[in-house]
Amino acid sequence: MSCDLPKFIVDFMLGKLARNLRLLGLDTVYVRHLNRKDILTRSLEEERILLTRSHNFPKRSNIYVIETDNPLEQTKEVVKVFKLSPNPFTRCAVCNLSIEKVNKEDVKEKVPPFVFKTQNEFARCAGCGRIYWKGTHYENIRKMIGEIMGG
Ligand SMILES: [Zn+2]
Repeated sequence: MSCDLPKFIVDFMLGKLARNLRLLGLDTVYVRHLNRKDILTRSLEEERILLTRSHNFPKRSNIYVIETDNPLEQTKEVVKVFKLSPNPFTRCAVCNLSIEKVNKEDVKEKVPPFVFKTQNEFARCAGCGRIYWKGTHYENIRKMIGEIMGG
């Protein structure tokens, strides 16, 4: 078995799942507007597993139909089914790009003073410029991972 993480593409019904998967460090494309045929084509071209709530796709091995409506349960389901090990704090939740560690001094003007004072590790998304740090948000992610992996 390869240790490469699978990549995903999710359809418009699964926006929260897409965000959760990105927070777990998984390469996840979220499509809002493409039609089914386009989504399917893209999933094959980019070798992504297609996650959907719809049973209307043709039966194919790279398509997985999510069974529940609850985003946390959906995330749990995907992690379990694809035997994923989360790697949080590595990917931008907004644009799905890898985030890079940056020097603390470089973000001084870009984060709230309290955050700058209390945090030492920062990372930045090359796409949107968003700065990530291991604050409250990160604790929420850890809690989510705990819930996903714990049950
Ligand atoms: Zn970004």
